[in-house]
Amino acid sequence: MIDIAVIGSGPAGLSAAINARVRNKNVVIFGNKIDTSALFRAKKVDNHLGFFDINGKEMFDIFLRHIQKFEIPIKTGRVTQILPLKDFFAINFENEIFNAKTIVLAVGSKKSKKLDGEEKFIGSGVSYCATCDGMFYKNKSVVVIADNLEAESDVKFLSEICKDVKYIPSYQVNSNFSQNVEILNFKPKKILGDKNVEAVETSEKEIPCNGVFILQEFILPSNIIFGLEMQNNFVKIDRACKTNLSGIFAAGDCSGWPLQLSKAIGEGQIAAQSAARFIDSK
Ligand SMILES: Cc1cc2nc3c(=O)[nH]c(=O)nc-3n(C[C@H](O)[C@H](O)[C@H](O)COP(=O)(O)OP(=O)(O)OC[C@H]3O[C@@H](n4cnc5c(N)ncnc54)[C@H](O)[C@@H]3O)c2cc1C
Repeated sequence: MIDIAVIGSGPAGLSAAINARVRNKNVVIFGNKIDTSALFRAKKVDNHLGFFDINGKEMFDIFLRHIQKFEIPIKTGRVTQILPLKDFFAINFENEIFNAKTIVLAVGSKKSKKLDGEEKFIGSGVSYCATCDGMFYKNKSVVVIADNLEAESDVKFLSEICKDVKYIPSYQVNSNFSQNVEILNFKPKKILGDKNVEAVETSEKEIPCNGVFILQEFILPSNIIFGLEMQNNFVKIDRACKTNLSGIFAAGDCSGWPLQLSKAIGEGQIAAQSAARFIDSK
């Protein structure tokens, strides 16, 4: 059992992990590839104390040396769901389940807008995990919307189960797929249906389907953990980085403004300390 599972390997998550380790807790980081962090795109950072004339990638090299020195494991991939169970949390990470006593969410802030209808059809046609839910669409038609190359293995997996797959990538695809996969360079606009998903409206035409897989690197935290309270698309936290759910803490850009490095690192520390205190109080 993991003491503190940190979701996200940006500055907030790495800071939470270091602080969990210095509190002698067993910590694991679950995060997409490092280059998906907002910081990785910074060409020059001058406002974090002790660092100047440095770019985001160089900062990461230093951060990761710190993580390695403390021998903190990083599992690279996406967390799609966290289920609160009686005394712990079950984390669905790339279709493997990990159990943790507490969670620190450090997933950054949303880069793409939620689709119209996305929220309404979660659980009745909208899914964020192909291998978890693919079987529900055996011999049916699905649409996959993705922003990253890693989603292609899910498209291939779905093409083996489903009747057909319409793939709407927001990046340039160079791979080959089986004949029942059609790549559509359209812009998805709206998910349509009555009780269940029936179609996706795009910039070009309506695509009839039974299910929609949204395989983007960023999933709104409240879609990973049901019941998580949000405020203007950010996780609502108090000064101890506690969310409305006992045992779940949040830090960094995902908790709101200012979307800045020092705030992310500071909140990572607070969230880890709060999580450690939560464990010690049990
Ligand atoms: C171009 C640019 C320049 C910037 N310059 C500065 C600057 O000069 N000074 C400054 O203070 N700030 C700057 N910032 C802001 C700073 O980079 C962010 O505030 C900081 O990176 C926030 O850290 P974070 O850990 O909260 O989020 P992020 O760095 O975004 O990290 C979040 C990580 O979590 C991962 N993740 C998300 N969802 C999941 C999931 N479901 N499963 C697994 N992993 C997941 C993401 O892929 C990402 O790797 C800049 C940002 C940008 C984009």
